Parts: sequence; C-alpha cells; structure tokens
Amino acid sequence: MNIYEKYNLKKVINASGKMTILGVSKVSDEVADMQRFAGQSFFEMAELTANTGLYIAEMLGTENATVVSSASAAIAQSVSAVIGRGDDYHTMHPYSERITQREIVIPKGHNVNYGTSVELMVQQGGGQVVEAGYANECSAEQVAMQITDKTAALLYIKSHHTVQKSMLTVEEMVAVGRVNNVPVIVDAAAEEDLQKYYQAGADLVIYSGAKAFEGPSSGLVIGRNPYVKWVQSQSKGLGRSMKIGKDNILGLVTALERYVAHGAESGESMKQRLAPFIDSLNKLDGIKADIVQDGAGRDIYRARVRVDSDKLTAADVVAQLKSGDTAVYTREYQVNNGIIEFDIRSVNEAELNEIAKKMTSIVMGEH
Ligand SMILES: *Cc1c(COP(=O)(O)O)cnc(C)c1O
Repeated sequence: MNIYEKYNLKKVINASGKMTILGVSKVSDEVADMQRFAGQSFFEMAELTANTGLYIAEMLGTENATVVSSASAAIAQSVSAVIGRGDDYHTMHPYSERITQREIVIPKGHNVNYGTSVELMVQQGGGQVVEAGYANECSAEQVAMQITDKTAALLYIKSHHTVQKSMLTVEEMVAVGRVNNVPVIVDAAAEEDLQKYYQAGADLVIYSGAKAFEGPSSGLVIGRNPYVKWVQSQSKGLGRSMKIGKDNILGLVTALERYVAHGAESGESMKQRLAPFIDSLNKLDGIKADIVQDGAGRDIYRARVRVDSDKLTAADVVAQLKSGDTAVYTREYQVNNGIIEFDIRSVNEAELNEIAKKMTSIVMGEH
C-alpha cells in the first residue's frame, strides 16, 4: 500500500507555483540524501547551527547567517533579537513589562496576511506593530515620524502580497534606520535574490527555505552581527517552540549550495518543456493555449489556456482538474476571464503528460 492509499490522500500535481497549502516545493535527491544522513547522525547542535550559518554567510558574502524553522519563525525571532539585544533576562522573559522598547515600525501596506498575519508573528516575538503611512502610501518621512525611544526596529516586507504603489524602497528604509540608529529587518521570504537586500544595508534579511530555494521546511536569516547571534540565542527562549531539526538544517544548506551554483530553472528551459504540452492542448476543441511570461516580469513562463466552448467554462475545467484520484492545481486568478494558467516549475515530464491526458478527457467529456 502506498502512502497516498494508507492515509486516504489525494495525489497532487502542483501546477500553481510555490504554494504553502500544497507543501510549497519538492526537494532534490541531493537534499533528500543529506536529510537522511543528518537524520541518522548526531551533532553538537550549537556547533551545527553556528558553523552552517558561517558556511552560508561565506557562500553569500554576508557577515553571518542562521537556519531556522520557517520564515515566520524568523520574523518572531528577529523581532525578539532586536528587542532583547542579547540580554539574558529578556531571553528568559521576552514578554516582561519591564522591557518597554518593543515597537516595530512597518509600512501600513506591508501589514499583510500571507497565510497568517505579519502582525501576529511580530507579536509572537514580543513586538508591537506601529504602522507608518496609509493603506495606499508610505514614504521615508512617514516611517521616520513613527520612530520614538520605544522603537526596536523597522520592518520591511518585500513581497507581491504587499501594496507596491507609492511605497518607499528598501534602500530608503535602511537610510531612515541609519539616521535614527534603529536596525532594519527585511522579510524577503519568497524572493530569489540572496544578495540584494543585505547589500542594500538591512541588518537582518529573512527567507523561506522551501520557496525559491526548494529546500526542506525551513527559514533562513542572513545579516550582520551581533543581530544574527542574537537571533541564534533565541533558542534558549521563545525560539525553542520553533526548533528546527538537524535534517532540515543540513538539507537547506545543500539546497542553497545548489541554488547558488545553478540558480532556478531558466525561462528558456520552461519554454522548451512547455512546447509539446501547448501543442497537445491546441489539438483539443474549444481550447487555445500559448506561453506567457510572469506578470511581474520574472524569468518564469507559464502555459496560458483559454477555454472557449459551449459545453465547458474555465471554472468547470479547473474544478474537474482538481477532482478524481490525482488533483491538478493550476493558477486560477483569471478563471473569470476564461483563462487558466499552468506553472510547471514543480511539474516533471511524467506529470505534464498526465495533465495533458486529463485535459483531453475533460474536453472529450470522459472525465
Ligand atoms: C511565505 C511567506 C512568509 C512565511 O514563510 P514560511 O517559511 O512559510 O513561514 C513570510 N512572509 C512572506 C512575505 C511570505 O511570502
């Protein structure tokens, strides 16, 4: 009996992108082998954390780095780090009323829900969110005017989830931090660039391990000392409930090595893999397929499928793709306009063929 049968689970083909609700991404054989080795070995964990952090820092050209359990845990622990600043009393009593410098200034348009809210993760770290600017704008001046002697840090969320319009840049946020002598944390959880925000001067930069880098469930904090060391010392305090295993620490380091060496799959490669898929879909009645680039201009290409039929709507096709033993998840944002998109970054050749077969039987009314 396989695992899907044993637990009565649906098999999932993920043609929607890096989705937390589907398990984010798949690890490579190399990463899985490292997780297996690490899971079957012992380490002095403090040494494993410190030394893998320095290894990543060396690889990325940063002062220090540390692997944590998720980007969410990284937000909480980074906030706790900038509030406590290495103080042992704080580490053990992170929510104590004796500590009054807890405010985290964040552009109002960055206080988003990415599956949970940024604000809740800040609160877990003992921080109090102070919003700067308005829902549709935030300038450097609007951030600066929220800084008081209670401010512990500025937080910038670099993400497609946030308001992009009339928003100060990371560089401008860093400049405000510098002038006011306040550290800057950047949450770049789903971003691909491992250098940009550190080089822009952020003190701590946060990534999610399983998103762009296709690591195991994990988070990464890169940045400057003493901030990174203060993040590490959270393991003796509120970080304990966010502990990451040795298998995922070493798995993420391996995933990062691969990512730094090879990068993500190129747009050119996606186009090549998409070509036969597009051809087979275009043979179907009422279906028109072509290749489109990512709306934000990233080097990502997807299949765009227009459903133009009397018998079926795009919403019907999406629903039928998800039904049955194998659920095929697509990008549904434009379903109301009759368009379905397939993102193949986490789809292999066998799965692409399976999607084409399923599309054929849906259009033929056999599904
Ligand atoms: C995904 C995401 C996170 C959380 O990452 P996890 O590793 O799943 O905790 C945080 N912030 C942003 C902007 C994200 O997109």
